[in-house]
Amino acid sequence: MNSMNHAEYFIMKTGYLIDMDGVIYRENQLIPGAADFVQALQDTGTPFLFLTNNSAPTPEDLVVRLEHLGIRGLSSRFFYTSALNTADFLSETDPECTVFVIGEGGLLTALHERRIANDAIRPRYVVVGEGEATLGKLGKAHECIERGARLLVTNPDNWCPVSSTKTRPGAGAIAAFLEASTGARAYYLGKPNGYMFHRARRKFSELSFSEPDQVVMIGDTMETDIRGAIESGILSYLVLSGSTQLEGIADYVYQPTRVLQSVADLVEEIRTGKASDRLDSPALLLKDAPMRTVGQRHQTDILKLQKPRPRPAMTK
Ligand SMILES: [Mg+2]
Repeated sequence: MNSMNHAEYFIMKTGYLIDMDGVIYRENQLIPGAADFVQALQDTGTPFLFLTNNSAPTPEDLVVRLEHLGIRGLSSRFFYTSALNTADFLSETDPECTVFVIGEGGLLTALHERRIANDAIRPRYVVVGEGEATLGKLGKAHECIERGARLLVTNPDNWCPVSSTKTRPGAGAIAAFLEASTGARAYYLGKPNGYMFHRARRKFSELSFSEPDQVVMIGDTMETDIRGAIESGILSYLVLSGSTQLEGIADYVYQPTRVLQSVADLVEEIRTGKASDRLDSPALLLKDAPMRTVGQRHQTDILKLQKPRPRPAMTK
């Protein structure tokens, strides 16, 4: 054995799975420090992958979207969406299947690339993602389910943020319509489903030459990002630049590994390669740190709309 303390010379290589909405941008605005954060990841060769529940855009669309916001030098392989996850799931579990799709380009393209055929007569699955769910399409999907199709949904989000005061219906809400009309139970992919994290990590190790020693999920939503990370056995950093307020965290049974004001808090430690000895953002130590006021609803919680704030989790 070498007499040197091995641990002193061992630098932990961390890979990051990064949520987009509320972490990198909010509405059409880049979150301050997000461009520096992505630049630091690129400059240091740190493995990373953007992980989003939005099934509407293709990875190429997301490259363009980030370019418009000022983040350059990325290619489509840095993005993993719930649409890609759905296509991966079907091509792994039922490669010969056919589908009737309610969704947009990102989902249609992902399924097409996996050679999964569309079928409006007798599909094996009705696949629901974000998008234009007209009554006509819902009626068709309803009929397909009555004829035996199973209901598969790209992600469980009932609503998606459009701006700080506005939301739009998400894939979970469209699926709820079909669950009510047919009595079928949907299966939800995307975060927090472990299959999303499992395939993301696989894609992740395909991207980098060596597998990271540890993987961290960075996200702004407790029910999807943080819950999924914990259930998949990886670390989780919650950022307060999106849908979660500091006061709300204690309500959950599961807790993030760290709480940060935004990804800007990580730039220094990525550049130096030394993990900060602070567990939480320095901004949280300030007594009157300004907190954003955002909606009370949770993206995956239907009951929350009718109920007052739930009791804090018993384990806290
Ligand atoms: Mg988010």
